[in-house]
Amino acid sequence: MRELGTPVLDNHLHLDPRHGRGIDAVTDFANSGGTHLLVVNKPSWLLGVEPETGEDFRAVFDETVGVVEAATDVLRGRAWPVLGVHPALVSKLVDDRGYDPEEAAELMKAGLETAAEYAADGPAVALKSGRPHYDVTEAVWEASNAVIRRALELAAETGVAVQLHTEETDDLADVAGWAEDAGLQPERVVKHYAAGPVEGVTPSVMCRKDYLEAAIESGVPFLMETDFIDDPDRPGAVMGPKTVPRRVDWLLENGHGEAVRRAHVEVPETVYGIDTHGTLA
Ligand SMILES: [Zn+2]
Repeated sequence: MRELGTPVLDNHLHLDPRHGRGIDAVTDFANSGGTHLLVVNKPSWLLGVEPETGEDFRAVFDETVGVVEAATDVLRGRAWPVLGVHPALVSKLVDDRGYDPEEAAELMKAGLETAAEYAADGPAVALKSGRPHYDVTEAVWEASNAVIRRALELAAETGVAVQLHTEETDDLADVAGWAEDAGLQPERVVKHYAAGPVEGVTPSVMCRKDYLEAAIESGVPFLMETDFIDDPDRPGAVMGPKTVPRRVDWLLENGHGEAVRRAHVEVPETVYGIDTHGTLA
């Protein structure tokens, strides 16, 4: 097992023990020097769940909580769940199931309310929300933004962060303003799948070398992720679970120890309140 001399956190990946590699992927991560994971629940429809109420999301969240516990058993550090409602659900509901955008938003908010229970009384350290990354009608866009605002309120109430899936952008000042309205510090809002710095919120940077260099040069607080989807039908679609440790190794070799400390110790502490040093065995 490799030891990189620092906590190594993948800030956003998925594990699907029923269809994908599950804990084998965690073992690969750990053997490469990875120590901590934030595991985001898979979209409900990929697990065969067609929610009609907020309670129906519990099956999705419980599956993630279970795999997080199993992952913690094989890590030198530990894993935590990030739970919420994938923003593309709005299109499934409107286009395939006949919901109007407002009804879809109500169901998605109800799902987030269930997720918030796992944040208030359970292991979740962030809620997952967002808006579509593809073109949608004005009504669907508005409905999605209403869902984001509810996620921000719930995060503020329960004392956790929010991970956002959004359109491709380097400016989320609008969402940062809504976070302030909700009483959540904007730095506790994380844009997943970032390509470098993002105005207003904390970027979780995909582990491409040029993206990481852009984040480091900008001097902003950032996190690192793969968005590994653990989907056997799309093996080449994403970065594999060894990528964050490999990139950390590369950063350390290139004299970026300070950036590594920021992305794997300081920022996880300020954003999620997690202690990646204190939780290392
Ligand atoms: Zn993802």
